[in-house]
Amino acid sequence: MTAQIIDGKIMAQNLRDELAQKVAHLPTSPYLAVVLVGNDEASIIYDRNKQKAAEAIGMKCKIHHLPEETTQNDLLQLIDNLNHDVLVNGIIVQMPLPKHLNSNEIVESIDHAKDVDGFGIYNLGLLHANDSSAMVAATPQGVLYMLQHTLGNLTGKHAVIIGRSNIVGRPLASLLLNNHCTVTIAHSKTVDLPSIVSKADIVVAACGVAKMVKKEWIKEGATVIDVGINRVDGKICGDVDFDNVKEVASYITPVPGGVGPMTVTMLLNNTLRAYLNQNSSLKK
Ligand code: NDP
Repeated sequence: MTAQIIDGKIMAQNLRDELAQKVAHLPTSPYLAVVLVGNDEASIIYDRNKQKAAEAIGMKCKIHHLPEETTQNDLLQLIDNLNHDVLVNGIIVQMPLPKHLNSNEIVESIDHAKDVDGFGIYNLGLLHANDSSAMVAATPQGVLYMLQHTLGNLTGKHAVIIGRSNIVGRPLASLLLNNHCTVTIAHSKTVDLPSIVSKADIVVAACGVAKMVKKEWIKEGATVIDVGINRVDGKICGDVDFDNVKEVASYITPVPGGVGPMTVTMLLNNTLRAYLNQNSSLKK
């Protein structure tokens, strides 16, 4: 068996085309505010990409680029201003923040209606309680979208997620549970990971260990989603040993070109949702 590749670039482009059509019919443009503190090169590139992607579908996106030495109070003040700005629909604060800043307090200061990253406790709580109004983090939402558009109904499938972070593993576990999967979350202290993974219909690797998931761990015909982004000898690779695992899986995502392109797209989708929630008369 050789797995079919789930092409994240095509899926993301199709979804962006749909979003662009919806945005074109709105009376005003949804507006995403991005807050970036310091000069981390990767963060600057990520945020420019978000801005380009937002503008390409007709949204507004402003990057508030603050100096490294910004104080907690200055940052809280900016977020307070954005919370009260009726033109701003979504706010994201690029992580990681410089070490002198308290990230938790910053995330919690964002109005939950504008928390389009879905990192705040309020939205995490709604997701955990299976409340469909939750704003859900972009990467796990992208993974769910890929699974649903590949497999259809997920009811009864056994999903094993490797990784329990607040931005990927945990919210994804809730999403899959809410979609009637049987979910196992594995982590660095899990005993006998290969045997646990071998029972999965769906394997999601989000551990940040290059090519860790091996062919021998995978049940024949399983679907394998690789969230990992690792750099090995200057090349990007995922957490799955792609070349070998594709021989036993039925579907698999590549890295790059898999989950990555879906993440920014889902952030834009959340921004549109936030806009519609804040302009409820426009909701159909
Ligand atoms: P974190 O480092 O926050 O979490 C990693 C998780 O993997 C932890 O729960 C950790 O366990 C677990 N883990 C680490 N090593 C092992 C191991 N040997 N066996 C089993 N579990 C292990 O990472 P993130 O969740 O933020 O990101 C995960 C990966 O996804 C990274 O490669 C990151 O770059 C990528 N990523 C990609 C995105 C995209 O858009 N494609 C977006 C976000 C992240 P423990 O809790 O015990 O420490």
